[in-house]
Order: sequence, then structure tokens, then C-alpha cells
Amino acid sequence: MSFPPQNRSGSTNDPVAKLIFELSKLPGIGEKTATRLAYFILKQNDDYARSLSEAIVAAKQKIQLCAECFTFTDTELCRICTGSQRDRSVICVVERPADMLSLEHAGAHRGLYHVLHGSLSPLDGVGPEELKIRELLYRMRREDPPVREVILATNPSVEGEATALYLSKLIKPIGIRVTQLAHGLQVGGQLEYTDKQTIGRAMDNRVEMK
Ligand code: ZN
Repeated sequence: MSFPPQNRSGSTNDPVAKLIFELSKLPGIGEKTATRLAYFILKQNDDYARSLSEAIVAAKQKIQLCAECFTFTDTELCRICTGSQRDRSVICVVERPADMLSLEHAGAHRGLYHVLHGSLSPLDGVGPEELKIRELLYRMRREDPPVREVILATNPSVEGEATALYLSKLIKPIGIRVTQLAHGLQVGGQLEYTDKQTIGRAMDNRVEMK
């Protein structure tokens, strides 16, 4: 099924087409999958549609960015930033909260995190100002105990590599060790979809940034 032209803007009065249009905005969801999801939702009883929509609204209302690392949290500081067992002198920098989750599931990192909320992509209008880079540099100066290592765990994509290089040039002059996850992660792949073993290996074999 393909969208009639008037549906592409989402300005349709047809509730089913509207549902499919909204679902198709989700990452990784094309028109075909959006259509399948829409029909699945419509086949369920009323309670399902209500609880799904309520869950989305409640999450959006309650979830905020951690004041320290900028991951999603329902408290001012996330449970990792407040965790007493974490090594506060090592900060792992990731692009998205989902990457942080992958590293946590892999048990690959016992330190803190910093979420940039994207990667440098000049063509898409994403420069340093659009990412949480100033906030990262602020943490470098303020964390106590002092930060002794920053692990760059951006995605192995052109944008991720450019972001890592940019950060390294900013952080190294401060006198902090800067490392990067070892290659072995599939180039162009995403941390989010990488298995635990591969993430663990990439962390163990991390390399000094030049
Ligand atoms: Zn946090």
C-alpha cells in the first residue's frame, strides 16, 4: 500500500491513513511496516489502543534528560550518575541513549556516560552547538574525582568518526586520556544493534586517539 499524495503531509481526515502516517515516522519503520502495525493495533480490543497511547503520552511527560549525562530519565539524575559503584573518573561518550543501553547490557563499562544526542553532520545542519559538547567540556572541568579518561563510543560511521576526531582535539589538550572503541564494530553499523560480545571486545581493546 502506498500513500495517496495528500497523506504525505499527514493532513488527512482518514483516521487509518493518519495512524499509518504517524507510525511511518518511527525510525526503521517504512510504509509497509507502518501499515502492518496499524492493522495490528486496529485488530486489538479498545484497551490495547488506549494503554498504548497512554504509555506513549506518559513516557513523554515523565521522561526528561539527566542533568549530568543527558540520557533519558524520570528523575533529575539518572541511576548511573547516582550509582555508588560507578568509576566516576572514566566517561564514555555516546551518540544516543540507546547506545548507552547497549553498552550497559554488554556490561562493558563501569564508569559514567555522556550522551551527545547525535553526531556532527554539517549537511544536515548538525554542528557542535546542536550536540551536548559544551556540556561535556564543562564536566571535564568539574567532575570530582577528576576525569582521567574519556572513551569515545560514537558509531563507526562517517559522522561518528568525524565527531570522535573533533572531540579528541578538544579534550586531549586538557590533559585527559582519550580512547576510542576498537575497530571490529562493523563499519557503518550502529552500536545499538551490535551484540554484547562484540561491544565487550571493542571496549577491552580500545585504542588511544591520535
Ligand atoms: Zn545521568
